[in-house]
Amino acid sequence: MPFITRFAPSPTGLLHIGHAYSAMLAHDTARDCGGTFLLRIEDIDQSRSREIFVAAILRDLDWLGITWDGPVRQQSQHMDDYKSALDRLQGMDLLYPCICTRKEIEKEVAASSFAPHGPEGALYPGLCKRRSRKELDAEILKGHPYALRLDMERALERLSNKPLSFRDIMGHVHEARPQDLGDVVLARKDTPTSYHLSVTLDDAIQGVTHVIRGQDLFHATHIHRLLQALLHLPTPIYHHHPLLRDSEGQRLAKRDNAPSLESLREEGWTPGDVRNEIARLLTAH
Ligand code: GLU
Repeated sequence: MPFITRFAPSPTGLLHIGHAYSAMLAHDTARDCGGTFLLRIEDIDQSRSREIFVAAILRDLDWLGITWDGPVRQQSQHMDDYKSALDRLQGMDLLYPCICTRKEIEKEVAASSFAPHGPEGALYPGLCKRRSRKELDAEILKGHPYALRLDMERALERLSNKPLSFRDIMGHVHEARPQDLGDVVLARKDTPTSYHLSVTLDDAIQGVTHVIRGQDLFHATHIHRLLQALLHLPTPIYHHHPLLRDSEGQRLAKRDNAPSLESLREEGWTPGDVRNEIARLLTAH
């Protein structure tokens, strides 16, 4: 069986040791089994993505001794792929526009005595689903920014509510429960796609057979599995690796507690030191 995996960072900041772990794990696994390791730059968020961070990612990976196969896929250059997938979902009548602001959503959730919650917090309470298309179209015509949401109920009905599952690298089968995340956004107000849509399509377009990424994206996989079923895309095998945590048990994050690889390099760390630190952090928790 072919083995094609990838590392897919967003160039919105400098990489830290948590990213190094993810990249090394995917890279080393591919190299150990004679597979392919791809690099994808996930830069759909044009307001936060920066070319200097793309350059820094390439520098850091090079320093770590991570080599990738083939050209780097940069998502911002493939917006047509995401648009055609959105058109297909639109053609199935599975999307609806949403003009809600974050504040409006929070207010609606707070006012409701029974607001359904999923593993990532409150689900979208359906304000725009209840608005008439006429009202929404009129607002959009006036220039109101809007997102496109997946109508989860219809999407599941379209698949005759058949159970969906995905397999992990250990051979365990997980039931996919996309309904636990509700009507997720598939095209954002500020960019005509979303993380969920682009990542699912790109993994299929690039022929990725094994997705290796952090545990924080486990629930996202349930949405990706649904999109694969709707768009007739293959389902890779998944591995959601543990997240590295600091001594207080806090997950390493770009902004707070994680020194960048660049700063570690400047302090005199070697790639070997990075590997040792990853091993230490993994065993500490
Ligand atoms: N671009 C995502 C991130 O930087 C990772 C996407 C993925 O591996 O599926 O968090």
